[in-house]
Amino acid sequence: MQRLCAHLRGVAVEGGKLVRMHTTPDRNRAEIVVDLDAIADNVATLKSRADCPLMAVVKADGYGHGLVPSARAAVRGGADTLGVTVIEEALALRRAGIGVPILAWLTGSGEDLTEALTQDVELSAASIWMLEEIAEAGQACGHVARVHLKVDTGLSRGGAHMSDWPDLVAAAAAAQEVGQLKVGGIWTHLAYADTPGHSTITAQLAAFDDAVRIAARDGLGDVPKHVANSAATLTLPDAHYDMVRPGIAVYGLDPMGGDPAAYGLRPAMTVQAAVTLVKRVPAGSGVSYGHEYTTSKPSTLALIPVGYADGVPRNATNVGPVWLAGARRTIAGRVCMDQFVVDVGDDPVQAGETAVLWGPGTAGEPTAQDWATALHTIHYELVSRVGGRLARRYLSSVPEEVPDPASRP
Ligand SMILES: *Cc1c(COP(=O)(O)O)cnc(C)c1O
Repeated sequence: MQRLCAHLRGVAVEGGKLVRMHTTPDRNRAEIVVDLDAIADNVATLKSRADCPLMAVVKADGYGHGLVPSARAAVRGGADTLGVTVIEEALALRRAGIGVPILAWLTGSGEDLTEALTQDVELSAASIWMLEEIAEAGQACGHVARVHLKVDTGLSRGGAHMSDWPDLVAAAAAAQEVGQLKVGGIWTHLAYADTPGHSTITAQLAAFDDAVRIAARDGLGDVPKHVANSAATLTLPDAHYDMVRPGIAVYGLDPMGGDPAAYGLRPAMTVQAAVTLVKRVPAGSGVSYGHEYTTSKPSTLALIPVGYADGVPRNATNVGPVWLAGARRTIAGRVCMDQFVVDVGDDPVQAGETAVLWGPGTAGEPTAQDWATALHTIHYELVSRVGGRLARRYLSSVPEEVPDPASRP
């Protein structure tokens, strides 16, 4: 990624006139700053709340925070195991030398499972054919797979339907009996964990307890059980069972959309960019494609070099909040592929100055939740999609956690 040279020359507006300025922003043109200590501290906080082993979910490139650095920080904070979606993510963690147990829970028919098994990646099964594929791969490579049996207790997404569960459990118990695999977990996922008190929660937990009883009849009573995502980890002790499985809270965001500080969590991600151009325009200037914004008075416009190709959603047009020149502003006009504009009125701003899209919110800047509210989405989507040409810069009190920029994939 490109670094701004240390003596970038900027342009400022002073008294309505453009003047050249000398600035020294020692940072990237546009960057995602990830506070790895926040990730470690959040995991420690979640662990103290749950009082059981914790699987830190680092899928989707660590929710946009970087797979390997996030995983290392989570383990430093006390994560016992790591959870990812696909095998490739698990193998990338192993290649980085991360040795804790890893569960990869979404595999399809016909995938090559042998490398996962030789690397001790645990897999999930929700069907008998999946169990068979795992057992076959295990025999082919001489490694006994650890398999988590997933039951669908009401999300109707992954997991075996309750009507298929007894057969799945019987098949898994039989395969374990003959040494073809080891059942390492029984698990499910909640539909409404982020709505504490919702009636489906108790219904799903009751169904899960039924599923656990069925498994116990086949000799799988001692298998660890896990259910709780972040929301359930924070608000639903009844769902903690033998392990919790938080994702978004690891990164310091509140799955219920509130203030994460209420749970002792702090957001790990800051997205910011250096203003690339500043100019004074008259009243009535149409701004950006389609002129969806027009200046109401003579104004100073600042150009921010990130756009929808970098994961800044186009529907942030005229609503996305940005911290710039000491105040919270709103994006003026359309977000383009590579850039957007902010109207700062008569406030002084200079090229090279930092515009913060979202961060922890402790210095006045908007949070990912503020963006989610403004854009009618969830912060999960914003943090996991932001990327594109933005550089990632890591902050950590443990230097080994910070990857060498040159070795970044
Ligand atoms: C993503 C995911 C989690 C973590 O969810 P959060 O809401 O981010 O805590 C846990 N379990 C499964 C199956 C998931 O897909």
